[in-house]
Amino acid sequence: MTGRHHLFIPGPSALPDDVMRAMDRPTIDHRGPAFQALAHDVQDGLRWIFGCAGPVVTYPASGSGAWEAALVNTLSPGDQVLMYESGQFASLWAEIAGRLSLKAEILPGDWRRGAEAQRIEDRLRADPGHRIRAVCVVHNETSTGCTADIPAIRAALDAAGHPALLMVDTISSLGSIPYRADDWGVDVTVGGSQKGLMLPPGISFNALGPKALEAAKTATLPRSYWAWEPVIRLNADGFFPYTPATNTLFGLRAALAMMRAEGLEAIFARHRRLARATRAAATAWGLELQCAVPSEYSAALTALRVPEGASADRLRQVALASFDLSLGNGLGKLADRVFRIGHLGHLNDLSLISALAGVEMSLGLADIAHQRGGVAAAMGVMAEAQRQGEPA
Ligand code: PLP
Repeated sequence: MTGRHHLFIPGPSALPDDVMRAMDRPTIDHRGPAFQALAHDVQDGLRWIFGCAGPVVTYPASGSGAWEAALVNTLSPGDQVLMYESGQFASLWAEIAGRLSLKAEILPGDWRRGAEAQRIEDRLRADPGHRIRAVCVVHNETSTGCTADIPAIRAALDAAGHPALLMVDTISSLGSIPYRADDWGVDVTVGGSQKGLMLPPGISFNALGPKALEAAKTATLPRSYWAWEPVIRLNADGFFPYTPATNTLFGLRAALAMMRAEGLEAIFARHRRLARATRAAATAWGLELQCAVPSEYSAALTALRVPEGASADRLRQVALASFDLSLGNGLGKLADRVFRIGHLGHLNDLSLISALAGVEMSLGLADIAHQRGGVAAAMGVMAEAQRQGEPA
């Protein structure tokens, strides 16, 4: 098919030309002065984007590596961790904890809302001996399109007077939805490259607060490649203890420059608008949203349920075959029940309209019961935003 592929999965997201150009260059010596300057630049930018004054450890690994790193650096064999089951990604993180010989206690969820602060507070109050060493939550559950209120969860730990570490997965929220690690009292923030940061998959992050650095001194889970300490020590001079993902870091520098130029508030407003437009389309089509709590709707992606008896995977196949449009699939127990539209990263109104048009046509071609008018509803949201003076 001619023209560009339409990548509308909730990450990896579309790569800006500036990022691709920045990476399309010879690899340099990662022990030389040019690399040092690059490493210092991206470290500054990462602290800015995470909202954290402490170190940000960068791994040449997908997000799952950074999940593991957060646990092995701070905890010891047999430690209890409280994991809130907001969806597939929270469940996968809990599985990793179990495999690492941690006692992962899961607060069960229905996958239709984000982690609830009150339930976390109630559970922590029932732990007067402070056996729970960490609370792990996913900020933006990419399988459901629901977000969690992280400041409320911080307040829940404080209200319970509980010293557990707070660890937050921002893999699909960072750079798309407001996040402030230090202001919100998060001890370890896990991030990834391939979503709001507009980079290819392959690098991931742990942003660290002082309490996490303290915990790392006594934690005894085995760790080598994931150990924070050597990375932090060498990063101070702009180096890494292993070969870093040099060219991706060039891309990161370019992406951070684009984000500084647009401004975080404008980026977040753009994501909110694209999410509103997508939900307006869903409502017009008569499709139910997977996220059942409006205050928790994600600005980065929307998961739409197909009517009983219809196949979300068939819709996705039709969209790909007919329009070269990739939509996100339903994960875990949502397989074939939902499809997900990613509206994060390098995206604007008209690119989203192309995806929504593809969905509307595919709904018809796949014979899925719906009403027309989704694209028109989304255009209405965008036009209204223009009238209100919102930058596109
Ligand atoms: N956490 C969230 C919220 C995710 O969306 C993903 C991937 O989509 C992951 C963790 C796992 O990251 P990766 O697939 O990069 O290992």
